[in-house]
Amino acid sequence: MPTTVNAYAAPSESEDLIATTIERRDVGPDDVLIDIKFAGICHSDIHTVRGDWGPQTYPLAPGHEIAGIVTEVGSNVTKHSVGDRVGVGCMVNSCGECKNCEAGEEQYCLKGNTGTYGAKDRDGSITQGGYSTHIVVTEDFVIRIPEGIDLDVAAPLLCAGITTFSPLKRWGAGPGKKVAIVGLGGLGHMAVKLAAAMGAEVTVLSQSLKKQEDGLRLGAKHYYATSDENTFSDLAGSFDLIINTVSATLPISDYLGLLALDGALVNVGAPAEPLPVNAFALIGGRRSFAGSLIGGIRETQEMLDFCAEHHLGAEVEVISADKINEAYERVLASDVRYRFVIDTSTLN
Ligand code: NAP
Ligand code: ZN
Repeated sequence: MPTTVNAYAAPSESEDLIATTIERRDVGPDDVLIDIKFAGICHSDIHTVRGDWGPQTYPLAPGHEIAGIVTEVGSNVTKHSVGDRVGVGCMVNSCGECKNCEAGEEQYCLKGNTGTYGAKDRDGSITQGGYSTHIVVTEDFVIRIPEGIDLDVAAPLLCAGITTFSPLKRWGAGPGKKVAIVGLGGLGHMAVKLAAAMGAEVTVLSQSLKKQEDGLRLGAKHYYATSDENTFSDLAGSFDLIINTVSATLPISDYLGLLALDGALVNVGAPAEPLPVNAFALIGGRRSFAGSLIGGIRETQEMLDFCAEHHLGAEVEVISADKINEAYERVLASDVRYRFVIDTSTLN
């Protein structure tokens, strides 16, 4: 018999989120029941509930940056125990059999991974996310949060952390590499911290200099405003790697011009509209324009262990559930420093 739990959900794409209840399935043999303590607010939550990426089934409780405590485990569970500090990110299942799943890249499951919210689950129901008090997840998609990272600052690592860690690692951010991060929001601020911890020389490219002091404190060496036209001429041909975290469309060819020979611009921002690319911006410097989607489960664990080792967590503003709609407006206005995290005890 499913359990009814408190949640915050969007009734439709045009209405504010409201307090409500959702159903959680019974704990099956391979499942873990998690008492959610904190849930981060990702810009993807806003894109999704507002229908930017296509129609959804409502009511929809978003949230894919989940940190909590295991309170029950199924009979076959071996990876987690009652009392463990754990996290759940953007996916809660995948086929487990295709070559991408076998390679530990479940996010690229050839049958499609099961998103933490708004996706069709194995039983045909629509998944509901972390803006709630409890969640039931198959053990393979539950990740251990190391001691030393508090749960509130750990929650955003489950999406913002892994989404930036994965391309930084894949494209070789490290000593001797010049890395630029475009957009200092939730993903961007984690990208700065992670790239700096990997040893890269980090530059922030933000719309203005308003957050410059923060950017430098987080680990950047340089900070430029993209509203200043000189930025694009001064920095032409500078970077080995650019991670674009911006949630809106950008004149991407201008940013490609900032890459050194063989440099790569990796897009993790996911605006609804296409990003126009001028072929000459790529040809001129043998440059690459790439994309990256979150990270696999194994890599997410690696990222959390890396964060624990380097004493990294997100910079968070913890809010009560009744402030979620206000937080959405602030995220949309680029007024987030640098992740809103819901204290789910306020849902009770
Ligand atoms: P966020 O906290 O809102 O940060 C986005 C930042 O982009 C803003 O803080 C702002 O930084 C900049 N920005 C916003 N609008 C802009 C505009 N019109 N022009 C120029 N810059 C602008 O969002 P987030 O949670 O980090 O998510 C960022 C994007 O990544 C979203 O599209 C989200 O859906 C996507 N995402 C993708 C993945 C993936 O797997 N690829 C995973 C998670 C999220 P400044 O004020 O510094 O300019
Ligand atoms: Zn996210």
